[in-house]
Amino acid sequence: MTRWYTEKKREHYYKEAKKTGYRARSAFKLKQINKKYNILKKGDFVVDLGAAPGGWSQVAKEIIGEKGKLVGVDLLQIKPIKDVVFLKADMTKDSTIEEIKEIFAKEKVDAVISDMSPDISGKYSVDQARSIYLCRQAFKTVEILLKPDGNFICKVFEGEDLKEFINEISSKFKIIKLSHPDASRKSSSEVYIIAKSYNP
Ligand code: SAM
Repeated sequence: MTRWYTEKKREHYYKEAKKTGYRARSAFKLKQINKKYNILKKGDFVVDLGAAPGGWSQVAKEIIGEKGKLVGVDLLQIKPIKDVVFLKADMTKDSTIEEIKEIFAKEKVDAVISDMSPDISGKYSVDQARSIYLCRQAFKTVEILLKPDGNFICKVFEGEDLKEFINEISSKFKIIKLSHPDASRKSSSEVYIIAKSYNP
């Protein structure tokens, strides 16, 4: 794919996001993933990690509807969305997982979705290692909060440790796939791990 085409596509999703009222282009990635893999459904309880500015939370809330429950977590403050609980907290702290658990009143959730990205240092190996670290924290959240048969989405930067991470989690899910949603920049090295049907 040419750089020109990539930029056009990026611009397209940016304009779409503005037009539709989504806070971020990334909203379309979740839409595309959900259309293809059926991760979220009406009534689900969902944890959205790395939720700012709230694009995924907007899409997730639309899907899960009034009966669903959504908690979004980010280091950054997020502008409120009706009936969504936002927590300004650091997912690298295990105490944050405990806080989320309290919000769900110890009930388990149907899906954990993580779009967390580390601050970019510019050195790819460092950024990739940080991305994997965030994925491990997301997976810790899965181990504590996800229902049997629940689903997990996790953004990760491609690289060496990715295979190892997938090996670690693969025995815990019935299906694992890697997805490059069309709404992602093709030039980027991000990929989404789609893990379905948790088998703790
Ligand atoms: N999914 C979001 C949306 O659609 O609006 C976009 C997420 S953005 C690509 C990545 C987010 O991960 C950033 O807002 C960043 O603050 C968050 N993040 C990075 N490290 C984090 C951490 N340790 N704990 C919580 N959030 C973190």
